[in-house]
Amino acid sequence: MPSERQVSFAEFEQHLNNLRMPRMIDEVIVHHTEEPRAAQYRGLSTIQGVRRYHMQVRGWSDNGYHIMIAPNADIWLCRPLERAGGHCLGHNAHSVGLSYIANFDAEDPRSYGGMVTGQRVVQAVLKRFGLGVKAVHFHREFADKTCPGMKLDLTTYRKEVEQMSQELQIVVEPARKMIPCHARLESDTTRVDLRALAEGLGYEVVDRIREEGKVVVREGGA
Ligand SMILES: [Zn+2]
Repeated sequence: MPSERQVSFAEFEQHLNNLRMPRMIDEVIVHHTEEPRAAQYRGLSTIQGVRRYHMQVRGWSDNGYHIMIAPNADIWLCRPLERAGGHCLGHNAHSVGLSYIANFDAEDPRSYGGMVTGQRVVQAVLKRFGLGVKAVHFHREFADKTCPGMKLDLTTYRKEVEQMSQELQIVVEPARKMIPCHARLESDTTRVDLRALAEGLGYEVVDRIREEGKVVVREGGA
């Protein structure tokens, strides 16, 4: 019975490390769903909807993608990585297929909340299979499609994935507690995973109100 499972990034890494892969992987192929768009994401029901479409309309055995990334940075494990995907004709046997729930022909990847998480996931897959950033491909290289959307540029995407591996350690004095918040330097600006940093400092991220352009953080959280 096909199923999907939402995991944290740490759980994703652990899952990767525990995999016993029966197939060789030499490519990670990036997609967008086109439909549903980012604004249509409703959690599990959206992922199940994609799987049902792939099974009932396309006649496949499961969701065609191995991994789906949501606009709120949820990570979904879909078709088991051990099995060949159904996402890129001629490349399925030896690749991992990751899809953003978005339409990057129309929606702006720079304001997409799951972009960096998707790139971290791609970087983790590269690391697990000993691949370099050149193993990252866009679906449109292999098909007469725009996938994963013309607003995404492959060279830039690969460069950003490469930078994922240059993470900084955030250390809190005096206890020298380490906060794994995926910090990295980008042109002299330190970028971090805000939720991880806030929680590591004892705050709680209460809400993200996109329309008002606010992130609400509360003292004395977890
Ligand atoms: Zn595609």
